[in-house]
Amino acid sequence: MSRRLGLLGGTFDPPHLGHLVVAECARVELGLDEVRLLVAGEPWMKGATVTSAADRLRLAEAAVSGDRHLRVDDREVRRDGPTFTADTLVELRAEEPDAELFFVLGEDAAAGLPRWERVEEAFAKATFVVVTRPGHAAPAADVLPAAVVHLEVPQLEVSSTELRRRFGAGLATRYLVPDAVDAAVRELGLYGAAATAP
Ligand code: ATP
Repeated sequence: MSRRLGLLGGTFDPPHLGHLVVAECARVELGLDEVRLLVAGEPWMKGATVTSAADRLRLAEAAVSGDRHLRVDDREVRRDGPTFTADTLVELRAEEPDAELFFVLGEDAAAGLPRWERVEEAFAKATFVVVTRPGHAAPAADVLPAAVVHLEVPQLEVSSTELRRRFGAGLATRYLVPDAVDAAVRELGLYGAAATAP
């Protein structure tokens, strides 16, 4: 049987439990051999990113540490210019000709699919998996270039935006991000977080 490789694209600013639950549910429920956090270099759909790619990579590495099914893929950070998933999927297909690729994204991110660069090309290279996210709905089938797989995951109302706010305001962050991410955020002095956890 061919290897089944899952890809969770994102800014990961910072990575949180929502991301890990999505990755784990996709792995188990779609029978994936591995899931990679694909850290975006220049996420052009998000406007300016405050945190450097190097720091976001470091946080992503912290998030997957200790999980043998998860790893970080840094190719989009190494590539110059805006991040287009189509380029990434073309590259991965060439590298792993026998693997089946699954590109996983939340309903909020999926709503932007019609605006993606070369979205048909991206859909030709991977199966797109749309996971449920609180406060969002799946995009209508007729705005997408091809069918997607829908996956229901436990609904965790956590986002990177909310985590940045919580770190900056000195609110609780433990259990919302892995301990290693919490420590790395404080060590790197990101989001105005205090050096030691409350
Ligand atoms: P932001 O606060 O800027 O919206 P984010 O929390 O969505 O950030 P990203 O790195 O942009 O973080 O997310 C990467 C992928 O993970 C996206 O496809 C997003 O939809 C999905 N995702 C993030 N958080 C959740 C969640 N709680 N439940 C389901 N999917 C999620």
